[in-house]
Amino acid sequence: VTASIIDGKALAETTLDRVRAAVSTLASPPLLVAVALGDDKASAAYVKRQAKIAQQCGVIYRLDGLPSHTSENELMAHLESLNRDASVTGVILQTPLPKGFDAGRCRDVLRVEKDVEGVTTMAAGRLFTQRPLAIPCTAHAALVCLKAGVGTDLRGLDVAIVGRSEIVGKPLAALLIHESATVTVCHRGTKDLAGTLRRVDAIVAAAGSPGLVTGAMIKPGAVVVDVGTNAVSTPEGTKLVGDVRFDEAKEVAKAITPVPGGVGQVTVALLMMNVVELARAKR
Ligand code: NAD
Repeated sequence: VTASIIDGKALAETTLDRVRAAVSTLASPPLLVAVALGDDKASAAYVKRQAKIAQQCGVIYRLDGLPSHTSENELMAHLESLNRDASVTGVILQTPLPKGFDAGRCRDVLRVEKDVEGVTTMAAGRLFTQRPLAIPCTAHAALVCLKAGVGTDLRGLDVAIVGRSEIVGKPLAALLIHESATVTVCHRGTKDLAGTLRRVDAIVAAAGSPGLVTGAMIKPGAVVVDVGTNAVSTPEGTKLVGDVRFDEAKEVAKAITPVPGGVGQVTVALLMMNVVELARAKR
């Protein structure tokens, strides 16, 4: 038997339907502002995608493109002005920031009530103390996909996460603990990745390493969620691949997310859900 495919697109559509319904109950449409410095190509692609989804669900999207010579102080002053602007529902600070910028310091200028990506220190603290405002959307998307793959609640499930980043691995560990799963967080310091993965009921791969997780590392019947989005060049051109060797994994796993069409789809939808949550919290 081959694994069932966890359909990120369908999960995203369900979420977006809920966003549209929630937006229609608000007194005025929410305003999402993306702040971007200079002209980074990857960032431009994200902005385009965010703008498109925002429009699809009735969220107003504004790009504040600051010139590439903007200083750290000027950027922080701009974020302060968005904090004060009552018409602004949520703010995304596009990364990467130019060399020499202290990204954490810049982000933390944002009030948690405007931090739609849940990336400020305050948002992280609120997540860990189970009073979240906006939950980091990639971690949240991985959780939604995992729940879809498992089909029941996650209580008592042994889950291993590969990766301990601030935006995926760490917040996901907190979310899973709150779901009463038993969580192992693997990273570059982990001694026996293969052995650890082989023992668990579910794997979330978020390492940014193409093909890191092989079929042999997966316990038969485990659920596999692949957060990795890695651009690799092939004879046919650039291709997006995950951290999991899909062809091998689908022969062993019970359910698996594809790349593309898995976690990434759900991520943007949950970003829009965060906008709605912030708009509601403001009232
Ligand atoms: P990151 O580089 O900040 O963190 C990677 C983590 O993986 C680190 O903690 C590192 O210790 C661990 N790691 C790397 N190689 C490893 C190995 N060989 N063995 C064990 N651990 C290893 O990356 P990130 O920002 O968390 O992103 C992870 C992946 O998720 C990337 O491919 C990224 O493109 C993708 N991503 C996807 C979405 C989405 O919406 N689907 C959003 C954000 C990031």
